[in-house]
Amino acid sequence: MTIIFNQSKKYRDLSLMDIVQLTEEQAWNKFKSIRWGHGDETRCPYCMEWGRHGFIKTRKIWNCRYCPMQFSVTTGTPFEKHKLSLVKLMVIVFFFASEHQGLSANTFHTQFGSTLKTIFHNVSKIREALYETNDLSPLTGIVHIDCAHFCGKPRRSNIRKTTDSYVINNRLRNRKDSIVPDLSTHPEPENRRKYKNRRILLTMSQCNTSAIGSIGSNRTICYVIKNEKASSIIPLIKRHVSKDAIIMTDFGSAFKSIFIETGIRHFAVNHSEEYMSKNGVNNNMAEAFFSRMRRAEFGTYNGMRPQYFAFYSAEFAWRQDSKDLTLNEKFNDILKRMLSREPSKAFTNYNHGSRLGIEYVS
Ligand SMILES: [Zn+2]
Repeated sequence: MTIIFNQSKKYRDLSLMDIVQLTEEQAWNKFKSIRWGHGDETRCPYCMEWGRHGFIKTRKIWNCRYCPMQFSVTTGTPFEKHKLSLVKLMVIVFFFASEHQGLSANTFHTQFGSTLKTIFHNVSKIREALYETNDLSPLTGIVHIDCAHFCGKPRRSNIRKTTDSYVINNRLRNRKDSIVPDLSTHPEPENRRKYKNRRILLTMSQCNTSAIGSIGSNRTICYVIKNEKASSIIPLIKRHVSKDAIIMTDFGSAFKSIFIETGIRHFAVNHSEEYMSKNGVNNNMAEAFFSRMRRAEFGTYNGMRPQYFAFYSAEFAWRQDSKDLTLNEKFNDILKRMLSREPSKAFTNYNHGSRLGIEYVS
C-alpha cells in the first residue's frame, strides 16, 4: 500500500513534545542559530554590522560595537517586543506549520490558553512574513492560471422571487437552482456588504513536470485583484511568467488576449464541456489551489477579512509549495522567514489598536 507522504515516518521528524520540552535557553539557541548561524558573530539590526558584539549574558542582549544600540535575538524581526516566551512562539509556529488547512485562531487560542487577539496577531505575522518572502521570480514550464472570488459570497433572500432571471433561466434549462444571484436580483443590504468585501484572487501555479507525468505544482504566485479584467491580469502574467512557458487557462474572457499581449503560448480548456481536453489542456493546479482555499475559508476560518486576504493567499501558496517538506523543514522554513524579516507592518501594536491602513490589492 502506498503511504501518503504526510502520514509517513519521514514526515514526522518533529513533534509538539519536542518543542514543549525545550528550555527557554534551548529555544533561544535555536532562534540565534537560525538567525545568525552557530558562530559567535551576530549582526546588529540597527547599523547592520556583523561582528562579535559585546554580550550581556544575564539579559541575553548584545551591545553593538559600532553604534550605541542594544539588541536581542528577536530585535528587528516580526517577533520584536514579544510578550510570549520563545518556547510558546515556537509552539505557535509548529501548529501553523503542521496544520494542512489553516490554523483557526478562534479554536487555537482556547487550546493554547491565551486571548484570541494574541494568537490572531502572532499567526497573522507569520502569514505576513510568508507574503513578504514569497519567491516572485518568473514561473517556467507549464503554468496553470485562474481567478476565483473570495471574502464575500452573496446569498439569496429568504423569499424566492419567481421572477428572478436566474430562476427562470434554470427552469428553462431544466437545471437545479444553484446559480449565485447578482445584485440586480437581490439588492439586500447583506448582499451589498458581501459584494463590497468580495475580492478576486489570481493564481499562477507552475506544474511540477520533473518526474514522469505531472505530480502537482511546485510554485505558486497569487495576487488579489479588484476586477477580473484583462487589464488587471495581463500585466501580472507578463511580470511573473517566463516568455518560454506554456500557459493553460479556462475560457475566461480575461484570458483571451494572453498570447497577443504577452507572446507566451496559451491553451484554454472549455469548462462547460470538460475539465481536461483530449490533448491534456487543463488548469487543474489552479483549481485545486482554490479548492483548498475554499475549504479553509468555510471550514477553518469561517470567512477571511478582505484587508488581510493577501496574507491568507500567501499562506496557502506556501502550504501548496511546501507540501513535499517534512515537518521540521516546514518549521525551520517559517522561523527562518520570520527572522529574516523586519517588524510587521500590519500587526505591530495590534493589541493597542494599530491597524493596517492600506490593503494589498494589485
Ligand atoms: Zn549597531
